[in-house]
Amino acid sequence: MHDHPIRRTLDIHGQVQGLGVRPAIFRAAVAAGLGGTVQNCSGSVRLEVEGPEEAVRRFISELPSVLPRGARVDRVVERAPVDLAPGGVAPFRILSSRDAGSFELVIPPDLAMCDDCRRDVLDPANRRYGYAFTTCTLCGPRYTVIHDTPYDRARTTLSVFPLCSECQAEYESPGNRRFHAESMACSRCGPRLRYLDASGAERSGNPTRLARRALADGAIGAVRGLGGFLLVADARNRAALIRLRERKARPHKPFAVMVPDVATAGTWCEVSECALELLTAPESPIVVLDVKSGAVGDSALPMDLLSPDTRTLGLMLPTTPLQLLLAHPLEGDPVPLFDVLVMTSGNRRGEPICLTEAEAVDRLSGIADFFLVHDREINLRNDDSVCVVREHRPQVWRRARGFAPQPLVLDRPLAGVVLGMGADMKNTVALGFGSRLVVSPHVGDLDTPQALEGFETVVRTLPRFLETRPTRVAVDLHEGMESARTGRRFAAEWGVPVVEVQHHHAHAAACLAEHGEPEGLVLVFDGTGLGPDGSIWGAELLELRGGECRRLASFAGVPLPGGECAIREPMRQLVGRWVAAGVEVTPERAKAKGLSPEQVDAWVLQSRRGANAPRVHSAGRLFDSFSAALGLAPAVITYEGQPAIRLESAARRCPGRAVQDLPFTLRGEAGTLWVDWADSFRLLASVPDLVGHEGEWALAVHRAVAKAAVAMVRHGLDSSPCRVVGLSGGCFMNAILTDLVCTALRESGIRVLLHHQLPPGDGCISAGQVVIAGG
Ligand SMILES: [Zn+2]
Ligand SMILES: [Zn+2]
Repeated sequence: MHDHPIRRTLDIHGQVQGLGVRPAIFRAAVAAGLGGTVQNCSGSVRLEVEGPEEAVRRFISELPSVLPRGARVDRVVERAPVDLAPGGVAPFRILSSRDAGSFELVIPPDLAMCDDCRRDVLDPANRRYGYAFTTCTLCGPRYTVIHDTPYDRARTTLSVFPLCSECQAEYESPGNRRFHAESMACSRCGPRLRYLDASGAERSGNPTRLARRALADGAIGAVRGLGGFLLVADARNRAALIRLRERKARPHKPFAVMVPDVATAGTWCEVSECALELLTAPESPIVVLDVKSGAVGDSALPMDLLSPDTRTLGLMLPTTPLQLLLAHPLEGDPVPLFDVLVMTSGNRRGEPICLTEAEAVDRLSGIADFFLVHDREINLRNDDSVCVVREHRPQVWRRARGFAPQPLVLDRPLAGVVLGMGADMKNTVALGFGSRLVVSPHVGDLDTPQALEGFETVVRTLPRFLETRPTRVAVDLHEGMESARTGRRFAAEWGVPVVEVQHHHAHAAACLAEHGEPEGLVLVFDGTGLGPDGSIWGAELLELRGGECRRLASFAGVPLPGGECAIREPMRQLVGRWVAAGVEVTPERAKAKGLSPEQVDAWVLQSRRGANAPRVHSAGRLFDSFSAALGLAPAVITYEGQPAIRLESAARRCPGRAVQDLPFTLRGEAGTLWVDWADSFRLLASVPDLVGHEGEWALAVHRAVAKAAVAMVRHGLDSSPCRVVGLSGGCFMNAILTDLVCTALRESGIRVLLHHQLPPGDGCISAGQVVIAGG
C-alpha cells in the first residue's frame, strides 16, 4: 500500500475535442481534490491525475459519467503509474493546446443548444431570459464562427464582443458551466437581433416578438441562423405555404419543419427510439420520419403543401435559442406557441444559402416578408444535417451542422495529404492525412457562381485550418465537371499531381472505408456518372481488392435520348427504353402518355442512331423510366430524384397486393453479368389498366430491382473471394429497395454494409476519392 501519491497518465481517444471535455474533467478533478493536467493532443485528450492511489483509481473509473454529452470514448491508452514524492501533487490545470508536443488540430463542429441553456433562455429569473445567443461549453457555434484553429474566442467572429464583467466572471470560474465557453455572451455584451421589413428597413420593438407576430399573420421570414439564413413560415398556415412555394419556385420538393419538443414530434410522426436519440443529440439533425396517418389533413398537417410527393417529413427540434424563441412566447407575448414551423434553406433555387444580411436582403427580396438578423458574423456556411433511421441506426443523408467536420478514422494510414474535390451534385470536400479523414460540411450543387465561390472557400479553408498542404488532389474522371476543373486548377497552383477517380469507384471505396474494410464487393445503384468506357454508369457491382476495381455486373446499356435533358424530362427515357425493347412507338402510344408524335419521333430517331443519346446503365435512370411508364413522373421534374421518390411513395401506399412479377433477363459475357430490363418495358407497354394500379406496379418494380441486385451479388460472390457486400449510391436512400436487398442477402448469410456516417448519395464521393488516391 502506498502512502505517498501517484500519477496516472491516460490518452483518451475518440470524439473528445471541442466539446467541453477538458473543463468537465477539470471540474471533477478539483471537486475530488486531485492534481494533474489535461490537454488536447494528437486527436486525443491527455489526462494526468495526481493524488492518493485510491482516489485516483475512483476518479478514473468514474470518468465516463463526467464527460459531457457529445463526447465519445473509443479507446484509452494508459502508461505505467508514477510514484510521486509526498506533497508532490500540483493543483489541477488545463494546459493550452499548443503546449502539447505531438499536437494535431481539430475543427470543432457546431453543437445544438443544450438543455441547461434552453432552461436559461425560458426562465424569467435568469439573466439570459430571452437571449438568442446563449451558449455554454456544451453547445453553440464553433465551425461557423472560427477564422482559424485552434478554437478559442480570439479566433472567432465573437472576438468583437468583449465579455462584460458578469460574463468574464463566469468564463473564469472553474465551477461554472461557462468556464472557458469560447462562444458565450449575454444581452449586455453580446450579439443583438434586429427586425427588418421586406425592404430591409429596421423596425423598432422586440425583434423576436415582431417576428412571431408576423409569422402568426402568415408572413414568410428570412432568419439568420447558425450557418446561414433559413426561411420560416407557420407550417399550418396554408396561404403562407402556398406563397412560399410560389416565391421560391419550388412546387414539390419537401420542406423541413421544426417542432418545439419531442412530445409534439410524436403527435405528427412515428418517432422510433433511434430517431428520438438523433433528434435530441448535440448534432440535432433534421430526421426524416414517417407521418402518422391521423396527423394529415387541413386542420392538422397540410402534407399536400409540406411534402406533396411523400408521406414523410423532415423534422427537427430547436437547435439554437433563436429558433426556440421563434416557437415559444415569452411573458406578455399574445402570440401563442407555434407547434410546427417550416424551416427551409434561405436561398434562391440552385444557389447556396445566404450568409450575410446584405446578401439576404438582396437575394431573398421578393421571397421574405421580413428579416430577422444579427451581428454574430457567420464565417463559414453550414446547412442543417439530414438523417434517417436505417436498420435501427442513423444514416446521414446530408452531413453538415453537428457532424461535419468531425474526422472519420481510417483503418490504415494514407500516403500523403490528399484533397478530394467531390462531385458536382451534393458536393462535399474531403481532406485525408495519416489515418484521419475530414469531410467538409455539405457544400451542395455547383450550379451557380455563388455555389462555386462557397466551394472554393471550403477547398482553401480545410487545409489551412488543419495546417496541412495537400500533396495530391483527387478529382472525378469526368473532365467537364466543375469540381474536377477547380481541382486541376488548385493542383496546378500548389504544384501537386492530380489523381482521377471514377465516380462509382469512389462510392464503393467510401462505403468500405466507413466500415474499416480493406476490400469487398459493393453494389452501387446511383444516378449518373461517367464510366471509363465513356458510357454512363450507375448500376455496378464492383470488386475492390488489392488496389484494383473490377466491374463484375451491371445493367445493359440503353439509349438516353437528349442526354442530360432526359433526366429533367423522364418521358424521353421511357421512349429510349421502348426503342431498346423493340416496342413500337405509335402515335397512339405517344398520345396516351401526353406526348406529341413529332416530339416522340425525334427521340426515337436519336435513340436508334445513338445521336445525342449516350448509353446509360444507371439504376437511378431505370427508376425514372419505370416512374414514367407508370404515369407517376412529372413531364418535367422539379427536383432531383423526384420520379424515384414518387415511385417509392406509390409503392409504400400499396397494401402489398401482388401483381405479376416484372421480368428481366440475365446474360453473362466474359465474366460480367448483364441485367436486361427490356422484358419489363415490353410487359408494361402491353398492360391495358395501369391506371389505378400504380402502387402495385411500383411495388413490383422495387421487388424486381431487388431481385436483380441479389442476382448480381450472387454472381459476384461466385467470381470473387470477397465476402462482404456494401450498398452505396443515391438509390439506396430508397427504404423499400434497401430493406428488400438487405433482407435477401442476410438470409443467405451475407454480411451487408450500409452507409451510416457518410451519405449513400454523392456526399460520400470526396471521401472515396481520398481513400483511393491515398491508397
Ligand atoms: Zn449550453
Ligand atoms: Zn455578458
